[in-house]
Amino acid sequence: MQKNIHLNYIKKIQTLLQSNSPFLIQNYINGELTASSNEEYLDNFNPSNGLIYSHCPNSNQTDVQLAVDAATSACPLWKNLPAENKFIILNRIAELIDIYNDELALAESSDQGKPIWLAKNEIKRAAQNFRFYATAAMQFSSEAHIMEESAINYTIRQPIGIVGCISPWNLPLYLFSWKIAPALAAGNCVIAKPSEITPLTAFLLSEICIEAGLPKGVLNILHGNGPVTGQAIIEHQQIKAISFTGGTSTGKHIAATAAPMFKKLSLELGGKNPNIIFADCDFEKMIKTTVNSSFLNQGEICLCGSRIYVEKRIYDKFKTRFIDEVNQLKVGNPAESETKIGAIVSKQHYEKVLNCIARAEAEGGNILSGGKPKNILGLENGWYIEPTVIEGLQNNCLTQQEEIFGPVVTITPFENEADAIEKANESIYGLAATIWTENLTKAHRVAGQINSGIIWINCWLLRDLRTPFGGMKNSGVGREGGWEAMRFFTEQKNVCIKL
Ligand code: NDP
Repeated sequence: MQKNIHLNYIKKIQTLLQSNSPFLIQNYINGELTASSNEEYLDNFNPSNGLIYSHCPNSNQTDVQLAVDAATSACPLWKNLPAENKFIILNRIAELIDIYNDELALAESSDQGKPIWLAKNEIKRAAQNFRFYATAAMQFSSEAHIMEESAINYTIRQPIGIVGCISPWNLPLYLFSWKIAPALAAGNCVIAKPSEITPLTAFLLSEICIEAGLPKGVLNILHGNGPVTGQAIIEHQQIKAISFTGGTSTGKHIAATAAPMFKKLSLELGGKNPNIIFADCDFEKMIKTTVNSSFLNQGEICLCGSRIYVEKRIYDKFKTRFIDEVNQLKVGNPAESETKIGAIVSKQHYEKVLNCIARAEAEGGNILSGGKPKNILGLENGWYIEPTVIEGLQNNCLTQQEEIFGPVVTITPFENEADAIEKANESIYGLAATIWTENLTKAHRVAGQINSGIIWINCWLLRDLRTPFGGMKNSGVGREGGWEAMRFFTEQKNVCIKL
C-alpha cells in the first residue's frame, strides 16, 4: 500500500514557507480540505520577519453548518466504533505527528515565532496528547454502585455528540490536540477552531487525520477569526459543549453566550502567576528554572511565573544573579539553535507588550533589564522584544495585576511567609503558582494557602497528563487532563435496578 499519500502540504512545507508567494490554508470538513464558502481570506504572518506567508479562510455560519452536518452524519459511526479501533486511529495520528516532527516544528515556529528547538518539544507533546488519549479510549469505563442488597446502579458515560474546541495562539498544536484528543477518545465528533493568528499546524493536522484514516466528519477544523468563526461555533444549537482556552474576557463572552443554551463549558483562561522564592531554596536550581518560567516561549505561556516574589534577605543576591542570567539570553532568529527568545506572535501583541512596559514605567517601575524592542540583523521587520525585568512596583498596580503574556516579569521582595501568601493571592487570577524552599513542611503549608489550580514546588511545568489542569477565580472553570477531560466530554446516565 502506498504510504502517506495525503501529506502533500507537510512534505513540501519548507518550500512553501520559503517561497515568496503566500499559499492557501484550507478548512477540513467532512474528511476533505475545502475552501471557505465565502472565499474570504485572512493574512497569516511570519512573526520572525513580518511577512505574509499564507492566507486562511475566514469561515462563516455556512461553513460551521457544513461542519455540523458532516459531524451529525459521522456521530453514530464514531460513537459505536469499538474502543480498540478508536485507539488505533488516534495512535496512528500520534505516530504521524512524531514522524513529521521536523516539518511541523518548522511550521509552528514560522507561524508563532518560537525557537524551532522549542517547537520540536511541543510537537512531541502534541503527539503524546493523542497517544495518551488513545489509551484512555481503551480504559475509560462506567461505574457501578450497589445499594446494600436492594438495588444496583450503573452509571454510563456516553459521548455528548458534537462538541466545539477553540484554542489560542501560544502553543498552537499542543493546546489544540489537548482538547481534540480527549473529545474524540470519548466518542464525540468535533468542530475545532485554532487561533486565526496561528492556523498552520492545525491545517497540517487535517492532512494527518485523513492519512490516519479518521472517518470523515468525525473531526472538522475551521479557520477564521474569533468574532466570526468562533462566534458561529459557540452559538450553534447542535454543538452541545465548548472547550475553550484563551483570554479571560473572551471566556466571559463565551460563557454568557453558551450558558443560556445550557451548553457544557470548560474554560481555561488567563493567569498572572506568582513565583515565590524563599531564602532557604536551592538557589542554583531555582535561578535556572526561574529564567525559564519567566521567559520560555517569549513569556507567552499561561503558566509563566510573571510575578516573582523573593524573600527580603536574598533579594539583592537574587536580583544580581537573575539579571546576569537574563542578560545572557539570546533574542533572535527562531531558526538558530542558540536562540532562547524568538519573535512575539503578532504586531498587535508586540505593541501591546511594549505599551505594558511603558505603563510599568509610568507606574513607578524601575526597568532592570531589557524594556525595549530588539533589532535582529536581516530580520528587521520581525517583532522582537528584550526579556524585561521590572522592580519597585506596588502589588496592586496594573502591571502586577493584569496579564501581559510576553517576556516581562516583575520582582518584589517579601518580609515573611504570611506576606508572601498575601501578595501571591492578591490577584483576580488563580491558575498556577511556584514555590521554592527546601523546607518541605513550609512548602506544603504555603501550597495549601495559595489560591491556584496548579502548584509546583521546586520545579515548573513538570506535567503528568493524568493530573487535573486548570485554574481558580478568573483563570477558568473546570479542569482538563486525565479522566477530568474524559468526564467533561461525556454525559452521565444512571440506571437503577431494583433487585
Ligand atoms: P483569545 O481569547 O483572544 O482567543 C482564544 C481563541 O478564542 C482564539 O481561537 C480566538 O480566535 C477565539 N475567539 C475570540 N473571540 C471569540 C468569540 N467571540 N467566540 C469564540 N471564539 C473566539 O486568546 P489568545 O489567542 O489571545 O490567547 C492568549 C490567552 O490565552 C491568554 O490570556 C492566556 O493566558 C490564555 N491561555 C490560557 C491557558 C490555560 O490553560 N489557562 C493556556 C494558554 C493560553 P482568533 O484568535 O482567531 O480571534
